[in-house]
Order: sequence, then C-alpha cells, then structure tokens
Amino acid sequence: MEWYYIICLFIFGTIFGSFFNVVGSRLAHNESIVYPSSHCTYCKHKLGALELIPILSYLLQKGKCKWCHKKLSPYYPISEFITGICFSLCFIIFGWSWQFVIAICFISFLVMIVSSDIEDMIIPDELLVIGTICIMLLQIPAYGIGYAVSHFIQGIGAFFFMWGIKLFGDYLFKKESMGGGDIKLLFFFGVVLGFPMAVLSIFVGSLIGLPISILFQYKKTHIIPFGPYLCLGAAILLFLNIPWDQLINMLIMY
Ligand SMILES: [Zn+2]
Repeated sequence: MEWYYIICLFIFGTIFGSFFNVVGSRLAHNESIVYPSSHCTYCKHKLGALELIPILSYLLQKGKCKWCHKKLSPYYPISEFITGICFSLCFIIFGWSWQFVIAICFISFLVMIVSSDIEDMIIPDELLVIGTICIMLLQIPAYGIGYAVSHFIQGIGAFFFMWGIKLFGDYLFKKESMGGGDIKLLFFFGVVLGFPMAVLSIFVGSLIGLPISILFQYKKTHIIPFGPYLCLGAAILLFLNIPWDQLINMLIMY
C-alpha cells in the first residue's frame, strides 16, 4: 500500500509541478495565471491534451514543439520530475501527518519561486505573501496559534539576518550583492522552518550554489541567481528532518 501512495504522489507531483512552472513564469512576466491556456512560448500554439502530460510529452516530442519545432527548455520536465520526487519524499519522511501537509505546501511554493526566479530573476511578492498565509493557516490547527506566531517572528528575524548579510556584501563588493527577493525569501523560510533552520539554509544553499555559479554562470553574466540555491538548501533541510541543534552539533563534529 505504501508504494501505491508513493507512486500516486509522484504522479500528482509531476502534474502540479507542471502547473507551478506555469504560475511561476507567468507571475514573473506579470501575466494572468488562468488566461490564456498553456501554449508554446515561440509560436503561441495552444497545447493539446497530449502535450500537457508532464515529462512524457517532452520525451515523446523529443524536446521540441510539435508545431514550430523550436527546442523546448529541459527545465520544465526536470522541474516536474523533481516536484514528483519531492511529493513522494514528503510522504516517505512524514507519513500522513500535518507535517506532510505543511511540507507539500512549502515544496509547492518553492517550485513556483524557483521557476519565477530562473525565468526572470524575480521572486514575486504575491508568492511569498500567499505562501506565508497558507503555511500559517496550516500551522495553527497543527501546532496551535502560539507556534504560528513564534514562527512568524522567527521569519522576521531571518529577514533581518539576511539583510545584514546583504549590507555586509554590499560593503565588501562595493555593489549590490543580493536582490531584495532573496531577503524576503528568508522571511518565508523562517516562518516555515524557524530562524535557525532558515539561517542554515543560507549556509547549505551557498555550499551548493557558489561553486556551481562561479564555474558556470558568473563568467557569463556576473550575476548569481541565489534564490534557487536557497530553495534547494531549504528543501534539503526540510527532508533531513533533524532538529537544528543536532544538525549544528553534527557539523561541528564533522
Ligand atoms: Zn511552437
């Protein structure tokens, strides 16, 4: 029975992932989420039912639009696949619990934030505000109002911590070191994971993101999109599911 749930959640994850990609990229371009229906970005041809199947449609069309034969971004099937895996992981790690519901909600917003940040280097405020409200509405029945308020305050703490890092970075590099979106993103992490985990997500995100960006991206654009790595760091910490004090102990021992 467990496998049945895991496979179903994977499939749900890929379908939702495909929708989240659309939401993320349309918000980045200030477009409506509901209208027009999904279309090819190049020739604007409306996608049929078969072309909307996550991952498979990309593979069947060999990564090209059926109508104009332009290459489609591999980001979409990869992100759909990762969302599927994350949805399954939520169940494997948390089982049927409030933690599971909160984790699914958090992952969903992370996928939207990452697509928007990759598409246009923007983390829309709408996503962060709606994400925070959704998470708090789940925290209240799950852990009580005190927990939700405490996490909200920890979010504010994480925001100011990140702001401090930005000011330090600006001083160090003598230019804008970080976008406002990344600072606001830390508020969202703080609300979900608490202050210590939010701060650790900066550490984990930088550990993964800095070497990759310095090798591949910085040379080209001189800009490092930090948001996706922060989200990856937060997701890793969510799935590790280890209390922050134990985690820090493990890091120190290592
Ligand atoms: Zn096309």
